[in-house]
Amino acid sequence: MDSDVRYSIIIPVYNEEEVVAVTYERLKEVMDSTNECYELLFINDGSKDRTAQIILELCMKDDTVKLINFSRNFGHQIAISAGMDHAAGQAIVVIDADLQDPPELILDMIEKWKEGYDVVYATRKKRKGETWFKKWTAAVFYRVLRSMTEVDIPVDTGDFRLIDRKVCDAMKKVKEKNRFVRGLVSWVGFRQTAIEYIREERFAGKTKYPLRKMIKLSLDAITTFSHKPLKLATYLGFLLSSVSFLYLIFAVFERLFTPNTVSGWTSIVATSLFFNGTILIILGIIGEYIGRIYDETKNRPLYIIDSKVGFKGNEEKHDF
Ligand code: UDP
Ligand code: MG
Repeated sequence: MDSDVRYSIIIPVYNEEEVVAVTYERLKEVMDSTNECYELLFINDGSKDRTAQIILELCMKDDTVKLINFSRNFGHQIAISAGMDHAAGQAIVVIDADLQDPPELILDMIEKWKEGYDVVYATRKKRKGETWFKKWTAAVFYRVLRSMTEVDIPVDTGDFRLIDRKVCDAMKKVKEKNRFVRGLVSWVGFRQTAIEYIREERFAGKTKYPLRKMIKLSLDAITTFSHKPLKLATYLGFLLSSVSFLYLIFAVFERLFTPNTVSGWTSIVATSLFFNGTILIILGIIGEYIGRIYDETKNRPLYIIDSKVGFKGNEEKHDF
């Protein structure tokens, strides 16, 4: 690894052919203004469009550009982790490819880093051009997560942040398969600070985070940072037993002292449906944890690399 690199910019890309060239130009302009050595590390997370070819062309004319091609789509959080594994810089910045995170903010982050902070994360003051559904679910998610975990995970903060080399090295030791990177950065500690920004609209293209991936991310976040959902079964069990006990007293009383002994079956059906629903939910929660325990024990590598371009030394061959 070339250790004279001061800044590594990690850019995960998945089907971003419409934006990647512009993102490169904007990042280049910002990073050139630092007058220090840097690298732009693109992680191609199994794109099916022309993203890889466009970055490859950039690699050919600019040796600050590096490219790692995954063998398939492994997901945003894993792409970021691969970036951290390969970054050579003293400070490492993670940024989305779609220009929702303004590259110019990197200069403010660098300033804070030079003041001595090890993590500078960017909190979204406002989100532009996203659906109310996304904004609302995101806002609820960050708050639920915060109330469930002891780790101090900042709200309304994505993966756009700068981390120091020592934070990056600590992150590399975290071997979890189901990863919630922004939570792990909080978990490793060090001196952290925030800067605020307004999240822009996507420059072009559509979101690569459909509902399915949003649910996966939030479940990973909650299950890897909290056991509280498992305790739900216990609390609910106590609550339901107390209610059932009261009802039992009532039923016995009715049988002994009133003539209307056989009441309708409605109450039986209602309670049985309710209890069955509750049991299924709790089984589901337990299943989420067991599935993740299984993932961890399988111990598969986090990602598979197809090819690397722009790295000194052992360059791998690739064909498109
Ligand atoms: N991304 C990725 N793999 C995926 C999904 C997304 O590498 O499976 C990248 C994507 O190219 C972008 C970043 O992660 O650079 C954030 O995705 P997106 O902007 O679609 O998410 P949103 O901002 O809508 O939450
Ligand atoms: Mg985006």
